[in-house]
Amino acid sequence: MFSTDQLSEIKQLLTPQNKIVILTHYNADGDAIGSSSGLKHFLEAMGVHSEIIVPNDFPKFLKWMPDAKKITIAEYKKKEARQLINQADVIFCLDFNALSRIGILDDWLKEARGKKILIDHHQQPETFDYVYSDTSIPATCQLVYNFIEALGEKKRINQKVAECLYTGIMTDTGGFRFRSTSAQTHRIVAELIECGAEPSVISSNTWDTNTVSRLHLLSLILSRIEIVNDGTAAILWLKRSELKEYDFQKGDTDGFVNYGLSIAGVRLSAFFMEDLYEDFVKISFRSKGTLDVNRLSRKYFNGGGHINAAGGRYEQSIEEAIEAFKKVIESEFV
Ligand code: 5GP
Ligand code: MN
Repeated sequence: MFSTDQLSEIKQLLTPQNKIVILTHYNADGDAIGSSSGLKHFLEAMGVHSEIIVPNDFPKFLKWMPDAKKITIAEYKKKEARQLINQADVIFCLDFNALSRIGILDDWLKEARGKKILIDHHQQPETFDYVYSDTSIPATCQLVYNFIEALGEKKRINQKVAECLYTGIMTDTGGFRFRSTSAQTHRIVAELIECGAEPSVISSNTWDTNTVSRLHLLSLILSRIEIVNDGTAAILWLKRSELKEYDFQKGDTDGFVNYGLSIAGVRLSAFFMEDLYEDFVKISFRSKGTLDVNRLSRKYFNGGGHINAAGGRYEQSIEEAIEAFKKVIESEFV
């Protein structure tokens, strides 16, 4: 948590006179939109207006969240996003810790004069004015809850705040299943339910949103899943032509990598996907136990993340990316 002095400095910054923006990462997920929106509604409850900016568009299944449609999407509104960042007195940076994670916002954030406040749970944070980073916590939404508590403002958690924070904790823990899900996570979630978050509604809004074409895409990759390294690693992949054929929508492949990890004996799953527009391969890694995919991705695939969930990219063909992965795990991982 921020120190007591830092907390009182931050509190003094949160006034209606100050311009406040909240930024989150490229290809925002449930925790990114949940933490940003939860913080925004909390600030609103304190009488303080803020604006959320994301680098690029985010999946439809997150747009049910209160005011999600008011989020400024920089790829569509460059001038507006740039001006908001430029004029901000305070810039919250949520669910990312490196400028490389915010796409076209990075130069604007670098140049910004506003105080930069990081709240995040990824490994190895870069430098910000105020840093609350805890890699043992499963979701940035849980950190935002802790921040609100440390400010002594829990009474401001209304239904909107609760719904948003619940969503990010639910998605980043894979439905309260992943390793860093703790008793404290459940205590916080219980409070959020008491404040108005409805588990069945939120999980249905977020997860029961499949299209038939998404299920067909899933069935395609499951039908050819490759198991390597004596049954300990799974490889899944998708080509650009297939994304087009199955009418790919943003977010459609979220969660696909987890199917690899659901196979008995598998401790490492990797999902390779050609980008729809640019010539690179996006990779998602998931692991179990102490197998550190943050390290793997940082070292070999230009990425990073958490010990058990990380992402990266490869600038050559998808076949070469998969070959490189096989070599890496043969030599030093599984
Ligand atoms: P996903 O596989 O769902 O895209 O990402 C898994 C985790 O790794 C997320 O927490 C995400 O923020 C992080 N991540 C994904 N891609 C990258 C990347 O290219 N660089 C870094 N540093 N982190 C990433
Ligand atoms: Mn997160």
